[in-house]
Amino acid sequence: MVVACSDGRLQEATDAFLAREFKITRYDRFYVPGGGGALASSGTDPVRAQQMCAECKYLVELHAVRRVILLFHGPSAAGRIEAACADYRRKLPWATIAELRARQELDAVDLLARRREFASEGDVLVYRCEVDAAGGLTFVNLDPDSPLGSDRRPRGARG
Ligand SMILES: [Zn+2]
Repeated sequence: MVVACSDGRLQEATDAFLAREFKITRYDRFYVPGGGGALASSGTDPVRAQQMCAECKYLVELHAVRRVILLFHGPSAAGRIEAACADYRRKLPWATIAELRARQELDAVDLLARRREFASEGDVLVYRCEVDAAGGLTFVNLDPDSPLGSDRRPRGARG
């Protein structure tokens, strides 16, 4: 199952990424503003995050989902603020691109540590679709413990 932002700008690219990376073209979708970030407890609305986690877990159990792919999106380090996720801009209205990116990375670590709360026994993968200044897209693994993950990021506090 894929948890992705409702933002329509990236949906074709998301489908292409999933088909290329995981050979999946038909999958359960949980589209919600913020994508994986909607499940994270870091925001200003912990009740919403709890409800989203419960809804996600319900779907996982209902359909016996074995893998949950959490997607975030936003500008690359050299990208433009216009590419930011509207839900993250709402949560962090004065944040710079670097701060928005850092928040998503912390949320990813938090979500991986709490995976049972929304993914039950399923595996959890976390990616961010990064948009560069020219509009190019890259899907970056945000799991600091993943062997496929980026090594440019310090390891988080994941338990
Ligand atoms: Zn978004």
